[in-house]
Amino acid sequence: MHASAADVDVVVQAGHQGRPASCAPLHVKKCNLGASSAAGLERAWTPIVADATARALRADGWRVARRPADYRARDRARFAAFIHFDGAIPACASGASAGFPLGNDSAPATRWRAFYAPQFPFTFRGLNITTNESGYYGFRNVDAPEKLLIEFGELTCPRQAAWMKPRLVHLGGTLARFIEAELRR
Ligand SMILES: [Zn+2]
Repeated sequence: MHASAADVDVVVQAGHQGRPASCAPLHVKKCNLGASSAAGLERAWTPIVADATARALRADGWRVARRPADYRARDRARFAAFIHFDGAIPACASGASAGFPLGNDSAPATRWRAFYAPQFPFTFRGLNITTNESGYYGFRNVDAPEKLLIEFGELTCPRQAAWMKPRLVHLGGTLARFIEAELRR
């Protein structure tokens, strides 16, 4: 929470991690705790993915700042990834999706969709499908030419959750491979 700003290759944020404890001290007005279902809590899943992504990137020599939901630092990076799982009512109305800041190049998100959708055996809904995605709070904490909010799938859909839950570390490695390809472009 008191981490100083980092100048790194990659910022990896685990969505909702550290909440609700981090909201009051950091004056977060909308303390969104993330999706939950019988399969688990989004804020318990996102750190597993983020840690695996950070571990794989560091093993290849990239400099990584691994961040929770709320923190004071404003980082600089070449790529920033924000990890989430979606929730929906009714269940199974959603799937995977991705977001990027309005005004930014859509190409990285389009490449992510092309990379991830064939691996994900459910629907990939689209890019910036809600204002929560295009206006994501975490985008403001990082200066980076590429910022990508990733919804890996819908946690509240039992079939999707059953597919994702045993693959959280694998999904982190998958994301690391994608980021490395972006950094080498
Ligand atoms: Zn989320």
